[in-house]
Amino acid sequence: MIDLIKECEGAAKIGISGHVRPDGDAIGSCLALRRYLANAFPDAKITVNLEQPPRIFHELVGYDEVRTDFAPEDEPYDVYFALDCNRERLGPAGTYFDSARKKINIDHHVSNPGEGEIHLVLPEISSTGELLYTLFDEKYMDREIALALYVAIIHDTGVFQYSCTSPDTMRVAARLMEYGFDFPRMIKETFYEKTYLQSQIMGRCLMESVRFMNGRCIVSVVDKRTAEFYGVLPKDYEGIVNQLINIKGVDCALFLYETDTLEFKASLRSTPAVDVSKVASYFGGGGHVRAAGCTMKGTFHDCVNNLSQRIAEQFPDAE
Ligand code: 5GP
Ligand code: MN
Repeated sequence: MIDLIKECEGAAKIGISGHVRPDGDAIGSCLALRRYLANAFPDAKITVNLEQPPRIFHELVGYDEVRTDFAPEDEPYDVYFALDCNRERLGPAGTYFDSARKKINIDHHVSNPGEGEIHLVLPEISSTGELLYTLFDEKYMDREIALALYVAIIHDTGVFQYSCTSPDTMRVAARLMEYGFDFPRMIKETFYEKTYLQSQIMGRCLMESVRFMNGRCIVSVVDKRTAEFYGVLPKDYEGIVNQLINIKGVDCALFLYETDTLEFKASLRSTPAVDVSKVASYFGGGGHVRAAGCTMKGTFHDCVNNLSQRIAEQFPDAE
């Protein structure tokens, strides 16, 4: 375990970042940690450096103070936290982490070996939000921190439905609920609610999806032309791959979108039949056993063929 208060004692400048294309866990964790450290060290300068978080998270504490410019800094950070990812996935914030006097990495991705001199990676924990709660002293907690951690947890557990949810997750969530916030509204507004456009692109992806390996795998793709036609951005694809893995008989769902010419971002989801973390790690990505991702070069067909080969190794009986 890490004693966060001890590690940050005397630090004048503290930085916190999560992964590129930050999700609810990365955003909630960064904002919760910032507020927690600010409560403990009111005189320290504490910055969250992240890619612009989606507007759905605007009610979380410190949302408007998130720095998104990644501008060079004169002075290195005394302490820098990499949350919910390894060094590689920090994006431009990686340089802040590298130059920091003390580097702390807190994560729950099985593919992360742990970075910096102080690291805590516990893959059996549902989310970085849940992990942070176990490191927090109640003395510096408040309602705002509880809400940010709760949002982090619901996003990585799919509102307590994924297998990463444990009895401890529920105990932590119960404790957080006691701080009193409007959880039904936060669940709806940050997790389930979709814009009309997001619903349309999801509908199109389900309609155009293709099953293979006797229906055990499914794939759907959004190329750049389609994205431009609908006017959608990567954040609008949230939830599509989760819908694909809910299809009866499917053990592995793939969702790809074109990020550049001959480059695709792949999101993978699975049932216990497939370890998608292994598949994604093979292509330089990573994640969890049931939810992982990677960036791949080539045509859409190259990417799917390459992914299928790695998946097929895990089901020797599939064609
Ligand atoms: P998603 O498919 O929702 O983007 O990501 C699923 C899980 O895999 C998340 O835990 C995410 O952090 C991880 N992940 C997605 N893409 C990558 C990647 O390119 N590299 C690594 N290391 N992890 C990824
Ligand atoms: Mn996470």
